[in-house]
Formats: sequence, structure tokens, C-alpha cells
Amino acid sequence: MKPLRIAIVGGGVGGMTAAIALQAKGHDVSIFERTSAFGRVGADVNLTPNAVHALDGLGGQIGARLRETAARPEYRISRMWDDGRETSRLPMSAAAEEKYGAPQLTIHRADLLAALEAALIPGTIRFGVAAQGVTQTPASAAIDLEDGSQIQADVLIGADGIHSVLRSAMFGADAPRFTGLVSWRAVVPRAALDGIANLDSFTKWWGPDPARQIVTFPLTGGREVFVFATTPQSDWQTEGWTLPGDIGVLRAAYQDFHPEARALLDACHAVTRSALHVRDPMPSWSQGRATLLGDAAHPMVPFMAQGACMAIEDAVVLARAISGSPGDVPAALGAYEDARRDRTAEIQRGSLANEWLKEGGNADWVYGYHAWTVPLADIG
Ligand SMILES: Cc1cc2nc3c(=O)[nH]c(=O)nc-3n(C[C@H](O)[C@H](O)[C@H](O)COP(=O)(O)OP(=O)(O)OC[C@H]3O[C@@H](n4cnc5c(N)ncnc54)[C@H](O)[C@@H]3O)c2cc1C
Repeated sequence: MKPLRIAIVGGGVGGMTAAIALQAKGHDVSIFERTSAFGRVGADVNLTPNAVHALDGLGGQIGARLRETAARPEYRISRMWDDGRETSRLPMSAAAEEKYGAPQLTIHRADLLAALEAALIPGTIRFGVAAQGVTQTPASAAIDLEDGSQIQADVLIGADGIHSVLRSAMFGADAPRFTGLVSWRAVVPRAALDGIANLDSFTKWWGPDPARQIVTFPLTGGREVFVFATTPQSDWQTEGWTLPGDIGVLRAAYQDFHPEARALLDACHAVTRSALHVRDPMPSWSQGRATLLGDAAHPMVPFMAQGACMAIEDAVVLARAISGSPGDVPAALGAYEDARRDRTAEIQRGSLANEWLKEGGNADWVYGYHAWTVPLADIG
């Protein structure tokens, strides 16, 4: 097989996973990442068994590195805001490993990015380089960079997140929709939460309305606990993952919640805020030799905790499709999309509906997906 030159825009979770999988197949991959270096920005990434299975399949040290810093939640629990009653409890750790071939891992976003970066061939990522578009002719394809230069490649991949410039360049500009919800995030030392139940589990406190919920799960090997909550807001103008929030405002919004839920917020001091945006599922993600993956193709609200997991699954399926049909890139991209569009659209819609595992239910169709073996159209 003649190796392809593959240019990926965006060195996030999806872009790096795709690069590792494509390099393992012998392709010549470069990533163009707008930021100048990865900082410890953002907090959690919740990797459910479907994503851990996909990451483990990359081989090398990735699985071991993730497990050095991640935590393994024991259960996935739903509780009610008023009397604290449990409405569902799904075993996740060893039980998920047995059932789905991998556990759930909860990890700091920076630790996940570091594990992925370490698995790339050195020099794969060019930091501080921003893309602004794509140019394709019947004979060539190129990424247009903001500095005016162009990167020619056989395959172009837009893994540049919810505000994807590749998506706009290929399908026209349209802004994601603000959901009317603001998410609040905090990381709390476990010692500050002494006496609170279920700290080794992923717990969601369901509110009386869809605008209020609290989610907690362990981070950093269980030494810290991640706390996530939402509040309603009519408008949102500011970008970013690290805008400081006023903890008093958050606590006030939850004063009618069960004392155990309120105690979680009482233990938070520094909180960050960010807006929750969505887009509708797209009918198509590819054009010629260019395609999208992850949030660039199908951003979703975090209520099924699948944003990063879908980017990882996409990356594996895309690498398989390209390697299965290196002589016909448009056919490979078509096979990738066909394998991925319905699943990601269903999870986009399910996340927005915000009912996932509220009263129990079967999680197999999400957690039991195996990106390395899911059928691809015959493109060989
Ligand atoms: C800084 C940051 C912090 C986050 N924190 C959280 C969090 O705490 N909790 C959570 O649930 N989700 C968080 N997310 C979102 C979550 O990580 C994504 O939903 C998920 O990982 C999807 O991955 P992705 O690879 O598709 O996109 P992303 O992870 O968004 O990665 C996109 C990458 O593309 C780069 N990029 C964007 N535009 C350009 C351009 N024009 N040229 C070159 N590079 C470009 C970005 O810098 C980024 O590195 C965060 C995302 C970011 C970018």
C-alpha cells in the first residue's frame, strides 16, 4: 500500500486518535493545531467502555498510560434532587470490563491529551498553526493556513472542534446554537468531601427541571472529585472553557436540592463556566478528499457524556476506512460516514433529550460498540 499524506486540522482528542491509528497503518500524518502548546485547560473527560476499548486497540502504551492517572468509577448512579432516592445503579468497573471488554475511565482532559501526544511519531503536531479553509480541485487538495500558506495532502481531516473552520469552508458558515444552559465545573480534593456517599462512582443528581443537574465522578486516581452542574441563562456571548464563575450564584440555584447534593457544591470553591452549544445532525460530513470528525461533525451536549467518546470512535473507524481503500479516498470517506452518521446523530439527539439512564435502561448499544470491528461497506 502506498502511504497517503494526511493533514489533520486540530490536535484535540479526535485529531490525535486519528493520527495514531493512521500512523500505525503506515500513513504520513501531520496535525496542525492552533494553540501554541497543550495547557491544563478543561477538566474532565469521561471515557465510557466504548471509547476505552477503541483507545486500547491503538496498542502501545496508551492503555497503560491512561490507567496511571484515570479513575475507574464503580457504578453509574442516578439520584433524585428532592429525597435523594436512587432510580438506577449500573455496575461499571470490573462488570463493564467483563461485559464490554473495557472499563469506564474518568480522566483529566490534559492527562488524556498527554497520553495521546506521547504515542505520536515525534514532530507530528505543528503547534501555533491555524487553518482557515480548504481548497480542492479534481487533482489536488490543500489546507489553507491563516499565514497564507497551503498544505497539500491526499486526505484532509477537520478535527477542529465545535467552531470548525473546515466545516464552514466545506458546508457554509452557521453558528452553533446556545442551548440556554451554562455548565459549571470544579475539581475538589476528595478529602474535602468526607462523609459524602458514592464518591467512587459516577453519580447524576436529576433536578425538577432539565436545566438543573449535578454530576460527580472521581478523577486523578480517585484523589480528586469532579463536580459538574448546569444553570439556565437567557443569553451567552463569551467563548472559553475557563471563565471564572461565582460559586454563590451556583449554590443559590440549588438551594432546594437534597442536602447531600448541596454538600457537593458547598465543597467547591473555584468554579469555571462555559456555555453549552449544539448543532443539528448533518446530512453529510465529506466533500472530495476532505472530511470532518468529532465535534466538528456532530457537537453534542454532555448529558450522555459521549462528546470525546464519539470523536475517538470516529477516529478509529476513519483510519480503518482510509486504510481499506487508499486508492479511492472519496469512497473511503463515504464508507466512514455511512458507518458513523446514524449512531452519532442518535447520540446527539439522545443527549439533548437528557433522559439517559434516568430510570435505568440498557446501555449496551452505546457502551458495547466496538469501533475496531464494526462493519464497513465493502470498499476494497
Ligand atoms: C480547551 C478545551 C477544553 C475542554 N474542556 C472540556 C471539559 O472540561 N469537559 C468536557 O466535557 N469537554 C471539554 N471539551 C470538549 C471535549 O474535549 C470535546 O467535546 C471532545 O473532546 C471532542 O473532541 P474533538 O477532538 O472533536 O474536538 P476538541 O477537543 O474541541 O479539539 C479541537 C482542536 O482543534 C483545535 N482547533 C480549533 N480550530 C482550529 C483551527 N482553525 N486551526 C487549527 N486548530 C484548530 C483546537 O485548539 C483543539 O485543540 C474541551 C475542549 C477544548 C478545546
